[in-house]
Amino acid sequence: MIPYDPPRFARELPPALVARLEACLGERFTRSSGVRAHHGHDESHFPDQPPQAVAFVTSTEEVVEVVPEYGVPLIPYGTGTSLEGHVLALYGGVSVDVSQMNHVLEIDAEDMLAVVQPGVTRKQLNVDASGLIAPILGHVGDGNFHTVILIDPEDAAELERAKALSAELVAIAQSLGGTCSGEHGVGMGKREFVAREAGEVGVAVMRAIKVALDPQGIFNPGKLVP
Ligand SMILES: Cc1cc2nc3c(=O)[nH]c(=O)nc-3n(C[C@H](O)[C@H](O)[C@H](O)COP(=O)(O)OP(=O)(O)OC[C@H]3O[C@@H](n4cnc5c(N)ncnc54)[C@H](O)[C@@H]3O)c2cc1C
Repeated sequence: MIPYDPPRFARELPPALVARLEACLGERFTRSSGVRAHHGHDESHFPDQPPQAVAFVTSTEEVVEVVPEYGVPLIPYGTGTSLEGHVLALYGGVSVDVSQMNHVLEIDAEDMLAVVQPGVTRKQLNVDASGLIAPILGHVGDGNFHTVILIDPEDAAELERAKALSAELVAIAQSLGGTCSGEHGVGMGKREFVAREAGEVGVAVMRAIKVALDPQGIFNPGKLVP
């Protein structure tokens, strides 16, 4: 099986990368602790894991500028509402905040087509002058089932009980031919269940694709691929 071993990048960001991003992005590249803390937090129960810096990009060209050859993990950031730890910087690196890439590029109301930059939000699309209403996804009838378990995350015993209940629900879903990812994805929260669902060959295919597209292992390492 192709090994998938993300870099454990705990050292300081390379000064050459910092200089390059400061020159390119100016104040939109920041290492301020408040901004980093905000970008190392999502709606999951996992402990916060701030990135080492945050880059607020405004164009595809700037995204490319952040990517290069320094072997630094990159974690895209939309609005940080992930429920499975997707945005946590498990191996450090740079959070690439796309919220300022918020232009609606094309609307074709007849074909119900909207081409948008990644920072466009549902509400923004709804109030766009075109009058096109973005479809609101519901759960009833689409086969999606998820629970919100109210717990005190500081209570270790309660957290463990909630995790056990979640694992049981996943096992039931998978035994019925369903999937662990549902609509919220795998992230780090459901990673341990992927192999049971995809099988050894399926996981090998995922790793092969991941390694082919991301040979340095820098694109949001530690998520999805077991
Ligand atoms: C209480 C609650 C209820 C929800 N209910 C629903 C629901 O009913 N239906 C539904 O569809 N969603 C629902 N969601 C939202 C859904 O689970 C995700 O949280 C949401 O889609 C993530 O969007 P985000 O922009 O905040 O992404 P983030 O949390 O910022 O990022 C999520 C992941 O996507 C990656 N990412 C972000 N932007 C990009 C990009 N431009 N390119 C590549 N990767 C990127 C990030 O690196 C991360 O891995 C709900 C969320 C909450 C908190």
